[in-house]
Amino acid sequence: MPRQHTYATQAIVLRRSSVGETDCLVTLYTENYGKMRAFARGVRKPNSKLGGHLELLNQVNLLITQSRSLPLITQADMVQGFYTPSTNFEAIVSGCYIADCLDAFTVEEVENQSLYSLACRQFRQVQSVENVQTQLRFFELQLLTLSGYQPEVNVCLYCRKPLRRHSIYFSFEAGGMLCQDCKNQFDCFIISEASTKALRYLLTTETENVQKIRMSEAIQKELAHILTNYLQFVIDRRLQSLVFYRRLEKWEASAIANPRTVS
Ligand SMILES: [Zn+2]
Repeated sequence: MPRQHTYATQAIVLRRSSVGETDCLVTLYTENYGKMRAFARGVRKPNSKLGGHLELLNQVNLLITQSRSLPLITQADMVQGFYTPSTNFEAIVSGCYIADCLDAFTVEEVENQSLYSLACRQFRQVQSVENVQTQLRFFELQLLTLSGYQPEVNVCLYCRKPLRRHSIYFSFEAGGMLCQDCKNQFDCFIISEASTKALRYLLTTETENVQKIRMSEAIQKELAHILTNYLQFVIDRRLQSLVFYRRLEKWEASAIANPRTVS
């Protein structure tokens, strides 16, 4: 979208880092201009008008002025704050993971309004749904699809024949599923029938139906393993929020197993 010297856009705050005594550098995912880095002057002063609005993961209406270096945020109004009195720790960690994925899968100044809408919806969903993990798997599949990496889950990627119920393999390198006869054509691993069905469901369903699927803990873990690793294969690096997530899971498992040692 062509830009004026000063322009308005809606955005999600993906990252913010302190600069000097009172300023911040903010990474935004905007509705109209894709990912953007902008400068927020004086935002850390106690009486700053921008301050509370530009917290991490908030959805905001912004007025931005082009400057010689980075765009300058001159006005911010909250559309939807991420943090509420009922926001729990899992929602915060999940929100940071969504922001991290969005940052990793996008380049600056490339607009994708479908991706913006998806992210806004998922930031809200992780605050309220019963099964946050299922919601994250749905987000990962939609993110892959909207970024041009939708995994093939219906036919074998090599011979293009429909997949049988059993002996289905998944290849990050090929970008989806392979049959028994073609499994040696790429690096791949066997995937359960239940995970295959779950992937097909989550790829085609609408946001409001995501929570209707019921999966065992083992299938949830298998899906998380497949999708988080496929995402990292596509971007060719580790997602830092995922490293934190895994540490948290280990800590929780340890807390359940040895309640006295961590209380
Ligand atoms: Zn095949």
